[in-house]
Amino acid sequence: MGTSKKLSRSKIVKNLDTIFSQYIRLKNADDLGNVSCFTCGKVSHYKIGMQCGHFQSRKHYATRWLEMNVAVQCVGCNMFKAGEQFLFGKYLDKKYGDGTAEELYIKSKQTVKYSNNELLDMIKHYKELVDSF
Ligand SMILES: [Zn+2]
Repeated sequence: MGTSKKLSRSKIVKNLDTIFSQYIRLKNADDLGNVSCFTCGKVSHYKIGMQCGHFQSRKHYATRWLEMNVAVQCVGCNMFKAGEQFLFGKYLDKKYGDGTAEELYIKSKQTVKYSNNELLDMIKHYKELVDSF
C-alpha cells in the first residue's frame, strides 16, 4: 500500500482472481459462512475446500470475471471433475433462464483486452464489496 512499485500484469490478474473469488464465496455464504457447491450441493465453510468455479474456463478473459459465469464449487467438482461443466451449464439455465449457458459460451469467445488500470479498478471494486460483508 502506498508504494509506487509497479505490479506485474500476472500479479494484477492473480490479485483480481483472489478478491473476485472471495467476493463470490462471501456473497453466497449464509450467516455461519457456509456455502453450497453449485453442481453437487456439498456444504462447507467458504474458506474450507470451496472455490469460485468457472463455467467457461478462466482462459477466456471476456467471461473470467463475469458473475454469471461463475459459482461456488467444491474442490472435488472444480478441480477433479473438470468443473462439472455440463451440470454447471444446466443449472445456469435454471438459475438465469434458458439460453444462458449458450450466451456465455458465445461471449467467452470474444476478445477482451483489459488494461492494467481497468483490472486495478476491478480489484478496488471487489475489495469494497468484500469489505462490506
Ligand atoms: Zn461439488
